[in-house]
Amino acid sequence: MANPVDPRVNLVGRTPGEIATLLEDVVDRSFRARQVAQWIVDRNATDFAEMTNLSVELRAELGRHFRIADPEILDRSASGDGSVKWLFGLSDGVTIEGVSMPENGKLTMCLSSQAGCAVGCTFCVTGALGAGRNLGPDEIVGQYRVMLRQLEEPVDRVNIVFMGMGEPLLNTGNLGPALETLYERVSPKRITVSTSGILPGIRWLAGLPRRPKLAVSLNAPDQERRQRLMPIAKRYPLAELMTELRAFPLERGRRITFEYVVIRDLNDRVADAGALARLIRGIPCKINVIPLNEDPEHFPDHRRPDDETINRFAVTLRDAGHTVTVRWSKGLDVDAACGQLKGRRQSRLPG
Ligand code: SF4
Repeated sequence: MANPVDPRVNLVGRTPGEIATLLEDVVDRSFRARQVAQWIVDRNATDFAEMTNLSVELRAELGRHFRIADPEILDRSASGDGSVKWLFGLSDGVTIEGVSMPENGKLTMCLSSQAGCAVGCTFCVTGALGAGRNLGPDEIVGQYRVMLRQLEEPVDRVNIVFMGMGEPLLNTGNLGPALETLYERVSPKRITVSTSGILPGIRWLAGLPRRPKLAVSLNAPDQERRQRLMPIAKRYPLAELMTELRAFPLERGRRITFEYVVIRDLNDRVADAGALARLIRGIPCKINVIPLNEDPEHFPDHRRPDDETINRFAVTLRDAGHTVTVRWSKGLDVDAACGQLKGRRQSRLPG
């Protein structure tokens, strides 16, 4: 783990432009700074010693002023389907989680944006554990770098979803720089930011010149139940959220993803699916129906609906003209970081 009192500046999580600015007083020619940036951003280097196209003297000088520090792997648990849950340690002793999910030559990484979550959704273990500090750009990008290095086989492409610990749109000050650095390697269209509906954050996202995809955790078709499941809805009411989303600028071909955790006898009726279909009508979108992963210790009152109910819910949405996937969680036998992400097997609906 990095030394918390290490005064050297961490170059992880910085764009090539930021690295060039930081290195101005240390390198004699600007192309040297570009070489350093290439090693760190493009080649995922972990040590100045790897930078063999730089002189030994320059590498030593860089090491005196800067460091290349990633989160430390404290634990990893692999699921039978290839998914891996990572436990990372940060320099101040805080721990965070991430998940990597390989599938058909593609790797989806689920990253954390905060070390805890203050939003307190009543179906989410992270929320039950309470608030934690914001992660810095180095700690956000560092999760990506570590997971990439641990790959046993090369992948064709990487997708990133911010569905791990924390509400990313409550940490926009660090999420923004982290996204800019990630864009060097991963297209914005392969990055999804998932929010519980933080309106100022959605407006911030709408104003970015380069935007990742947007996912919104909805979970109820009306204000009363949404605010019971997601207390943040008191502050950012459903009606205002929908108005904001209707105005959200979408690039050609893009859609908003709505996530809906189905909970037995709470939001799983056919009438609820109908109300949801009406609520989002007219918004270019797709819906991820996510059967609740039961957690009797934290949420003894919340149960998962049976498969028939889940399918009926999804078919109702589909019959109303929406694109729907059901994210079955049976395949993932490790606990994922956030209540929203415990599985990834997506299924077609019955005809
Ligand atoms: S579901 Fe996401 S936003 Fe809600 S408490 Fe969990 S981590 Fe926070």
